[in-house]
Amino acid sequence: MKKMAELSYHYGIKIRIYPSSQQKQLIKLNSDIARTVYNKLIAIDQELYQLNRVKLPLDVVTNRIDELKKRKNYKNLINHFQYMQNKNIDSLTIANAKQNYQKAWNMYKKVHTAGTPKFHKKGYAEKYQTNAQYGKGSNMDVFSSTGVKFLDMKHIQLPKVGRIRISGSYRKLLDHKQDIRIGTVTVSKSVDDKYFVSMQLGSDTPFVEKKKVTNSQIGIDLNTDNFLTDSEGNVIANPRYYRTIKGKLAKAQRKLSRRQLRAKKEGRSLRDAKNYQKQRLVVSKIQAKVRRQRNDFLHKISTALINNHDLVVAENLLGKNMLKNHALAMSISDVGWRTFLQILEYKASLYGRTFVTVDPKNTTQMCSDCGFIMGKNSTNKLTLADRKWTCPNCHKHHIRDWNAAKNILVKGLAKLA
Ligand SMILES: [Zn+2]
Repeated sequence: MKKMAELSYHYGIKIRIYPSSQQKQLIKLNSDIARTVYNKLIAIDQELYQLNRVKLPLDVVTNRIDELKKRKNYKNLINHFQYMQNKNIDSLTIANAKQNYQKAWNMYKKVHTAGTPKFHKKGYAEKYQTNAQYGKGSNMDVFSSTGVKFLDMKHIQLPKVGRIRISGSYRKLLDHKQDIRIGTVTVSKSVDDKYFVSMQLGSDTPFVEKKKVTNSQIGIDLNTDNFLTDSEGNVIANPRYYRTIKGKLAKAQRKLSRRQLRAKKEGRSLRDAKNYQKQRLVVSKIQAKVRRQRNDFLHKISTALINNHDLVVAENLLGKNMLKNHALAMSISDVGWRTFLQILEYKASLYGRTFVTVDPKNTTQMCSDCGFIMGKNSTNKLTLADRKWTCPNCHKHHIRDWNAAKNILVKGLAKLA
């Protein structure tokens, strides 16, 4: 059977699950272990780093180095830490935590700004990863794996945790396919106490039908005045939900910190402070609502773009250098541009469309009619306040963001040519 990476199509699903209180305990145990393994590996590597800087070749030091290096081995790690031998721990949880630690290092080696792996703090959210496994000659479908598998359309099985009821309908996706395998599976609990299973699915058959060719191409300019302006001059305003709910959130957060203070004064631990915990849930629920509304908005806009165009071009945000400006950085995270570009990329590959990003250099300053660049030869450079301008060379009247979107499309086409 092919491995996940060898399959042509991949698809992610996130399923709400309803564990029993006993199953909740098992999920907590496994997510605690995932975090502990990850943190142990960091601690070992930090100690190794320090020991390797000791100049004298002391026996004590070299012995300790050997011991630590050995401990990083999977079996030795489990043997060393007694509590990892609990029979309720899914062995794949530990293997995945180790792999994630390695991935974090690889990421650091590739992109240094990613930073070295950091200790995972104990929080109210829980998360661990496990897998579905397929034996030789087993069918490649979501019911035939060991480890994680679907039992029927309403239940899944997780290793050590057992049978769990799920919500949502996956019949359309799963019923008629003999060609899907499950890859990595993430079990999680959100801060507002909801449980989920996210699955990577792989197949050689497309998960969705490709969209019909539209012969339409579009550039989009993401900016702060509105959410985006496209190369046809359409403007999509920023969603209002954030502003409406912000006051409510601030009020709830103030109440939370008052309760935190009171518990502290009375010398109670926050985990046992009932009123604090109640309010924490209120805050988490408001935050989750903001996230949900934002995601709905991003999905609606991205679906429309992918449905109606064969090619979508946007600027890459890193090049836009916006994060240096605090106010702009704030609004980027508010409206979720980064997530938006990720969604576009994902949907484009899912539906057989093309999505590219281009370097934002001069997209705002250049006249899309004659190519004249503002600010280059002592002419006034356009600022964020200049929403409309006239090209001093060809006298064409421009709306700033519309002009930028046109340039972005041209750059995208050039990149693909
Ligand atoms: Zn011009």
